[in-house]
Amino acid sequence: EAKAGGRNQYRLFDESMRNQREEELQLLSDLRDALRDGQIVPYYQPRYSATAQRTVAVEALARWIHPERGLIMPSDFIPIAEKSGLINQIGASMLEQVVRQRCAWERRGLDVSVSVNVSQRQLCEADFAAMVQRILHDNGCDPSRLELEVTETLLIEDNPVLSANLAKVRRLGIRIAIDDFGTGYSNLARLNEMSVDCIKIDRSLIQGLPRNEEIVRLVIAMCNFMQVTIVAEGIETLAEAEWAQRHGCHELQGYFYSRPVSAMEAECLMRGQAALPQGIRPGRLEPREW
Ligand code: C2E
Ligand code: MG
Ligand code: MG
Ligand code: MG
Repeated sequence: EAKAGGRNQYRLFDESMRNQREEELQLLSDLRDALRDGQIVPYYQPRYSATAQRTVAVEALARWIHPERGLIMPSDFIPIAEKSGLINQIGASMLEQVVRQRCAWERRGLDVSVSVNVSQRQLCEADFAAMVQRILHDNGCDPSRLELEVTETLLIEDNPVLSANLAKVRRLGIRIAIDDFGTGYSNLARLNEMSVDCIKIDRSLIQGLPRNEEIVRLVIAMCNFMQVTIVAEGIETLAEAEWAQRHGCHELQGYFYSRPVSAMEAECLMRGQAALPQGIRPGRLEPREW
């Protein structure tokens, strides 16, 4: 009897696994269509410069503008994209859209750099650096105004293609940022050798303040030693903003300044217009470039 029960349980488990698999396949197929139809678009979150006292850069964050379900967040589609390899196409599309947007902004007199998240899988593609170079060239974009955000786990990866890609894009003059710093296990010696341009301190450290104060000060000291730009992520309160400025973070990013918003809204924010133009709502499907 116990055996039969066990078998039934197994079958149930098996079935729910199959359902999950089917759901994933459906999601992946929807995601492919969405990418083809231009529903995967960058939203932008300001990176506020403590010294310039203005937004000097924006981070692009992928959003799926679903015609029925509305705004879908990266946590609901980036994992499956990573798993299936579709992240390579999504990443390429994001880069293209973001570089184009930066150029459109420049033409309209807005001076802002852009950063884009790049997954490990993309960096392991042999033609990654060539693709980035092509996108910059096609759009006449200054490489130094583009930053690629990679996670610190990449530093422990010992993949020759990945290392070559990082070296190539950096030689093009593109900046490299280490994202979510403090959440992984960095090889600090490797980090120093890699000569990155920017370190983004993870919001878990920032939001632990003042509890983590000594640790964050050590991270900032290390960044200063490495002469990299220091970004404090996940700033939600005035107290956090003041702490980060007082302790020498160069850029501040978080809901306190702005949530990630559409290109159109980001432009309004940067031009210092609080109000949105009539009829424009977050999440509305927009042309590729505003
Ligand atoms: P990330 O690159 O570390 O981006 C920061 C995330 O923190 C964003 O979530 C942002 O909305 C959120 N955030 C910013 N400020 C605050 C704050 O003050 N408080 C809190 N609680 N959260 C804040 P989002 O947009 O959901 O993106 C999540 C992650 O998905 C990103 O983390 C990044 O790893 C990944 N991702 C997003 N877009 C792309 C993409 O185009 N390509 C790749 N490969 N990954 C992406
Ligand atoms: Mg990021
Ligand atoms: Mg981050
Ligand atoms: Mg993150």
